[in-house]
Amino acid sequence: MNRLLSIAAALLLALGAPAAQAALKVLACEPEWAALVQELAGDRATVYLATTGLQDPHHIQARPSLVAAARGSELLVCTGAELETGWLPLLIRQSGNNAIQPGKPGNFEAASFVRKLEVPERLDRADGDVHAAGNPHVQTDPRNILLVAEPLARRLAALDPSGAAVIQARAADFIARWKAAIARWEKEAAPLRGTPIVVQHKAFPYLEQWLGLVQVAALEPKPGIEPTSSHLSAVLAGLQTRPAKMILRAAYNDGRGAEWLAERSKLPIVVLPFTVGGDDQAKDLFALFDDTVQRLLRALP
Ligand SMILES: [Zn+2]
Repeated sequence: MNRLLSIAAALLLALGAPAAQAALKVLACEPEWAALVQELAGDRATVYLATTGLQDPHHIQARPSLVAAARGSELLVCTGAELETGWLPLLIRQSGNNAIQPGKPGNFEAASFVRKLEVPERLDRADGDVHAAGNPHVQTDPRNILLVAEPLARRLAALDPSGAAVIQARAADFIARWKAAIARWEKEAAPLRGTPIVVQHKAFPYLEQWLGLVQVAALEPKPGIEPTSSHLSAVLAGLQTRPAKMILRAAYNDGRGAEWLAERSKLPIVVLPFTVGGDDQAKDLFALFDDTVQRLLRALP
């Protein structure tokens, strides 16, 4: 509990939001949405964060401190698209908080404003952790952050009418700076276009689509299933016919499978922050993509 509170406090401090003045109590499921709320609302919101950049957002425990935060929240901001299906429905139920139930204005699902990739044609448990709504890891493409920013600003303003003008002004400023940053990232990342990659988890289809990376293999035999030695051997063999240039994993992934493959294939491992706080550089949304692009460029041969 203390750890989570101190993370929330650290985030607020980092973003310069004094808790005492805050109007709206927000519970964010993932750090990228906490950071986006802070960009848009500033000190009109206090944000409690359910997961850190080093936690797997698919699987966390609904601890008592988190249930208490959900009970006191006026707005829940989560990815949706079944990312949190293992813990969020239970958390919402346990909170007893009517305002944040699905379908209420206090329940905001970021992924619902994004066109999802990898929407399965059929659903079969045997395929692993496959989501009916498509791949939920939408935050790895900054253009998706842009798609979420406007509806999120509108939602924040609706729930905080006295802060609406401030929020709309902050949103316009953020969107302008974000669009400029996207143009800069795309220019910097141009040499990455067409780069074949191996990924640990299918966590990067939006990043791949944005920067033109080409996924040739995944270390997980099925989404959500840790790499097995037989599958790793098959991936290594497959690289003979479909070579790759780097192995991508998120900061929160167990690194052993990637290390096994790197040792034998001599490919560099790129540990991406994946979200705000995933590494020391990724302190806010801008730094998250600065760092992501730079880490990918450094791994190019
Ligand atoms: Zn996933």
